[in-house]
Amino acid sequence: MNNSKNIDGEEMKGKVWLAGAGPGDAGLLTIRTAELMEEADVIVYDALLSAQILSKIPEHTETIFVGKHAGHHPVPQHEINRILVEEAKKGKHVLRLKGGDPFVFGRGGEEVEELLKEDISFEIIPGITSSVAVPAYAGIPVTHRNYTSSFHVITGHARKDGKLEIDFQSLVSLNGTLVFLMSVSSMEMILNGLMDAGMDPDTPAAVLERGTTAKQRRIVATVGTLKEEAERSKVKTPAIIMVGQVCELSETFHWAEDRPLGGKQILITRPRQNSSVLSKQLRDLGAQVIELPSIHTVSISPNERLRQALEQFGTVSEEEWIVFTSPIGVTVFFEQLKEIGVDLRSIFCKKAIVKFAAIGSGTAAALRSYGLISDVVPEIYNAKELGMSIAEKALKGSHILIVRAQTGSEELLPPLECAELIVEDVPLYRTEYEVRSFLRHKIEKMFEKEEIDCVTFTSASTVEGFVHSFEKLDLTKIHAICIGEQTANKARDYGMDVKISQKATIESLVEEVIQNYGNQVDADGQK
Ligand code: SAH
Repeated sequence: MNNSKNIDGEEMKGKVWLAGAGPGDAGLLTIRTAELMEEADVIVYDALLSAQILSKIPEHTETIFVGKHAGHHPVPQHEINRILVEEAKKGKHVLRLKGGDPFVFGRGGEEVEELLKEDISFEIIPGITSSVAVPAYAGIPVTHRNYTSSFHVITGHARKDGKLEIDFQSLVSLNGTLVFLMSVSSMEMILNGLMDAGMDPDTPAAVLERGTTAKQRRIVATVGTLKEEAERSKVKTPAIIMVGQVCELSETFHWAEDRPLGGKQILITRPRQNSSVLSKQLRDLGAQVIELPSIHTVSISPNERLRQALEQFGTVSEEEWIVFTSPIGVTVFFEQLKEIGVDLRSIFCKKAIVKFAAIGSGTAAALRSYGLISDVVPEIYNAKELGMSIAEKALKGSHILIVRAQTGSEELLPPLECAELIVEDVPLYRTEYEVRSFLRHKIEKMFEKEEIDCVTFTSASTVEGFVHSFEKLDLTKIHAICIGEQTANKARDYGMDVKISQKATIESLVEEVIQNYGNQVDADGQK
């Protein structure tokens, strides 16, 4: 949606939405922010945003990164302000997406001042701040009736002269939970400042790194020992330091890593239309899921060949088959029928008997959603088996209309031709490779750091799409979980470590992920 002109051709004023994206887990995006991510013309985002969240940005949306690249300075605040103003003045709907909450050490106030100065309208969408959510995911309540009656969020960011602007005496006398953001590099000054102001060195304290993400870590110690413990564990940013009795509770309240797939990061490569069930099942088990469609389908439209094929349909032989090789093929087929104006009665009300074949249970389910029950679904999900199963059942001389992707598997054809069937192979769509470059860099780095536990592939073309998108990756380090032999063979051809699901279903794929990467839980539910 680019609203720079309205229908009368008048210049439209843009607007800026200043929104918080939460601390990392995409489940902590607010409904409003998720909606705006769908609707914005341009999204201005910074480094704290996770790949899981960025992968939700629609393909057509322009993105502007204003965070810090490794080895580069961050984009200065005045430059970010200028970008927001400039984009809004072009009449665009601008989403300024920030980690956590935009007004909790997020410099949202400065951006609002600039927008007011330039007379640009704005809205503010609060986000879930890391200062509360990161402790919660570590099993630490920021307040608890038996421990503390207040909590305080403090920046640990040092001034230019290296000093902290913190009144440690007052902080210690408050007796509340203390949460320090931006505090890793000034950890020593903070802990010493608290002890010098009279805090008991045995007071529980914690460092919580990359909270709410699959790779979150917590180091719980005391004010006196935290520095040493954090150094030993090589704590990195982003992290918060927490001080207070409540830190003790994490020992019994911890939960996030204990879920069957807690702490696991899984990349799924299905086209977006199909990924939601798989993604939901994995997320429900505690995994962090990055949805990165490595292919998308482009419908061949208007489909003249399909129109011709259907015109002759039912006139060639006594038995007619329509063969589907993917759920998306089913969807596209019915869309194209609508486009070319074919009435279903013209297919069924001919002399010939019409039969349907589906390559697997997903495709059969897609057909069922249109009220059609498949006559053939092979037990083993691949093109050759599909061809053989049809050959077995079809009357000699039957007309077999295959409606599928442009580069469908060759293996489907020989069994049909051997059985003296009349085969017509009509492409419905092409698959194109896609991965947006800003995501590609982020994900490449995650693979390099071995932060992605496994990648799911549901067809050979998703493997091709993935390999095509990540040319620089060492593919032997990729742990692939595949549906179907053909998919697995393709992944093996590229040297990946391959596991294959027992059945060609999403449930079976999820089961395979749990078996190989899940946290072991015994019969009592204990780890
Ligand atoms: N507006 C943000 C805070 C921005 S300041 C919010 O409301 O959360 C950046 C600091 O936030 C980091 O230095 C770190 O201390 C903290 N932070 C943000 N995300 C975090 C995460 N996932 N885990 C741990 N700390 C985080």
